[in-house]
Amino acid sequence: MVIVLLGPPGAGKGTQCKRIIEKYRLVHLSSGDILRSERAAGTELGKKAQEYMDSGKLVPDQLIIEMMVKAIAAANGNCVLDGFPRTVVQGAELDKELALKAKKISAVVNLVIDDEVVEKRLSGRRSCPVCGAVYHIDTLKPKIKGFCDKCKGQKLVQRPDDKPEVVKQRLKTYHEQTAAVVGYYSDSGQEILDIEADGPIDDITAEIFEKLDSLVTAR
Ligand code: ADP
Ligand code: AMP
Repeated sequence: MVIVLLGPPGAGKGTQCKRIIEKYRLVHLSSGDILRSERAAGTELGKKAQEYMDSGKLVPDQLIIEMMVKAIAAANGNCVLDGFPRTVVQGAELDKELALKAKKISAVVNLVIDDEVVEKRLSGRRSCPVCGAVYHIDTLKPKIKGFCDKCKGQKLVQRPDDKPEVVKQRLKTYHEQTAAVVGYYSDSGQEILDIEADGPIDDITAEIFEKLDSLVTAR
């Protein structure tokens, strides 16, 4: 089963994916996380991606498609895609790749939220550089301020691209290039599960589960 989670940066995709993978036993494939680990490992892909990521622009489609096709194959096609596809070209390539394996997307979940809300969220986001756990300085505090709950003694960091000027560019990129992916899916007849994403994390999870459950039962 392949679930696609759409939404602007800061909509809560990563937060909700962690819960979706537990319930439906899927692998979480975040294109952003994969790129960050490629960078940390100093690979060619990581080096190529660096300047795009730091300036809030999209990494070129071909690099991303190749990376995600490999990751989906490694997950045996049982995954939640977080941050991919981010362009219509990526969406069409994903459909082609799945069709080659007689598979298709099971559900597209679209987190709907205003820019002002995500700007606030991203400025307070902190993450663990070791395990990738994500916190928020106001809404999802770690037990000990500034430290990861799971990796004891590990300091949390702010992603460099969560600085306000880069967040503005990321939102611009979202509206100019990524928002069209929703239209791509509706034009191709794919049902889109729109979720109002400005609310308590647990309420949003409950709504996602309710919609995914009814979709799975209907099949
Ligand atoms: P995305 O993966 O879409 O970029 P994240 O899941 O990393 O977004 O969430 C961005 C920030 O907002 C994180 O600090 C997270 O803890 C916080 N957050 C996520 N969902 C909510 C919510 N429903 N209400 C308040 N804060 C949230
Ligand atoms: P994220 O962690 O999803 O916020 O992604 C961080 C950054 O990685 C983005 O701002 C882009 O520069 C890059 N990136 C992640 N996913 C993609 C994608 N599907 N296409 C192009 N660039 C991406």
